[in-house]
Amino acid sequence: MSDLRYTAKPATRTEIPRPKRGEGQWALGYTEPLNKNEQSKKDDDPLNVQARIQHIYSKRGFASIDPADLRGRFRWLGLYTQRAPGFDGGKTAMLEEEELDDSYFMMRVRSDGQLLSPDAVRTLGTVGREFARDTADVTDRENVQFHWIRIEDVPEIWERLEAVGLSTLEACGDSPRPFLGSPVAGVAADEIIDGSEALDEIKRRVLGNPAYSNLPRKFKTALTGHPSHDVSPETNDVAFVGTVHPDHGPGFDLWVGGGLSTNPMLAQKLGVWIPLEEVADAWEGVAGIFRDYGYRRLRSRARLKFLVADWGADTFREVLENEYLGRALVRCESPRSPVGHRDHIGVHEQQDGKRYVGLAPTAGRVSGTLLVQLADLMDEYSVAGARLTPYQKIVLIGVDADAVEPLLDRLDEIGLSGRPSNWRRNTMACTGIEFCKLAIVDTKDRARDLVAELDRRFPDLDVPITVNVNGCPNACARTQVADIGLKGQLVMSDGEQVEGFQVHLGGATGLLANFGRKLRAHKVTSAGLDDYVTVVVTNYLADRTEGESFVEWVQR
Ligand code: SF4
Repeated sequence: MSDLRYTAKPATRTEIPRPKRGEGQWALGYTEPLNKNEQSKKDDDPLNVQARIQHIYSKRGFASIDPADLRGRFRWLGLYTQRAPGFDGGKTAMLEEEELDDSYFMMRVRSDGQLLSPDAVRTLGTVGREFARDTADVTDRENVQFHWIRIEDVPEIWERLEAVGLSTLEACGDSPRPFLGSPVAGVAADEIIDGSEALDEIKRRVLGNPAYSNLPRKFKTALTGHPSHDVSPETNDVAFVGTVHPDHGPGFDLWVGGGLSTNPMLAQKLGVWIPLEEVADAWEGVAGIFRDYGYRRLRSRARLKFLVADWGADTFREVLENEYLGRALVRCESPRSPVGHRDHIGVHEQQDGKRYVGLAPTAGRVSGTLLVQLADLMDEYSVAGARLTPYQKIVLIGVDADAVEPLLDRLDEIGLSGRPSNWRRNTMACTGIEFCKLAIVDTKDRARDLVAELDRRFPDLDVPITVNVNGCPNACARTQVADIGLKGQLVMSDGEQVEGFQVHLGGATGLLANFGRKLRAHKVTSAGLDDYVTVVVTNYLADRTEGESFVEWVQR
């Protein structure tokens, strides 16, 4: 393994809270592997699996794959075995992981906020068509996710992706997961600061670097200079958020320790000002703290949020300054959290007079064919590129003003709307039981049907109501910060266990950031979901005061 244990030589050691027993913090001397994941990472740097896939597994086939690679290290290359078809949610809890393995893979391609050229979009589409049975979903971490990938095809896919600047490296695993960048970086007329350069620098320093390939668990990064905070900074392990210092000008505040799933926590603001050129240093400092002080004993406590909760923001900032950066950070009031949309749907003016146009697939479901069609339209209308968003949307960048209307018409024809209904715009869904081995319920199809039904029942809804559909408690589609958050689980109906959801009501990010209320009585079968949402929305519309949002109504 990469033997990158704690090496920082602090000038000043901050007094940090010491837990009664070792939690697996390398910096405190608890370096023994403490669970099977830690042992696997110690046995071999997960990055080494890339060469084995290229030279051995892809040539000898699925049966040749070492199980420790298959269920562990493959994730560092963005590969998970997908769920074998034929298992229903009721059986899941009784099956071992191996029994759920299919010989096909889910492959995650990271975009890291970069501008995807028409060629890159076309390449993603053709990979989907040729190798992934025409799948190609847009995820809420700005990835494109393929399914039905065969191990034999992986090297060829990597080659094609690399040719257009894309990669699957560290798209999963205990690593720096795909970075969320502002989809309108460098173009939005109301941008505070363009963070693209900093994100590129982090990527250059970090991806494939063994110093960061063995973190306690996943590590999620977000960076935006847009005032809408369009990268969900509250729910990331580390986030850089554009702010203006009265003396120094535009820079970034640093937020740490956000994460959902079980024990959800919102990121804490450190209240500092970091100039663009020092963002990558600060990122390395935060990731270093996580690597060295993060809890590795229990997987359930191995996220940065637990460390931040135990230390508090002030101690965290001090350790960062004293032990990792060797300098004090400039203090600055944290930027005010905004209200309103963060998805960039619709038509907006750019700094250069062109337009950017946000498009809404339904619940992130796209296809290889659709991406090829999109690339063709981008060429036909001379669109500069596309970016993916943390809300499962696509933003076209650099559209000529007079091309907007005809382009929107053509996009509608292929099913990518820049003028989506309220429900289509505000509904997200995770992968769900179709492909995810952890899922308990179906999500994508359920979300699509829900959107169609709510469009019919509430065609003129005048306020946004977000609906996030998740297939299990892991909250990949951010259960707890939606107006209506749905967590997949089995529920009782007529004495039988059937697919359903635990409901969370009134979650939000931004100015009203808080977690939705989990109401024990609010469990709904999947079949009853349309009617449940209808009742909730009808009550809200009848009872709201003037201008009262759904969240405010729930919190009243
Ligand atoms: Fe899979 Fe659960 Fe995540 Fe959905 S929330 S993608 S079901 S792990």
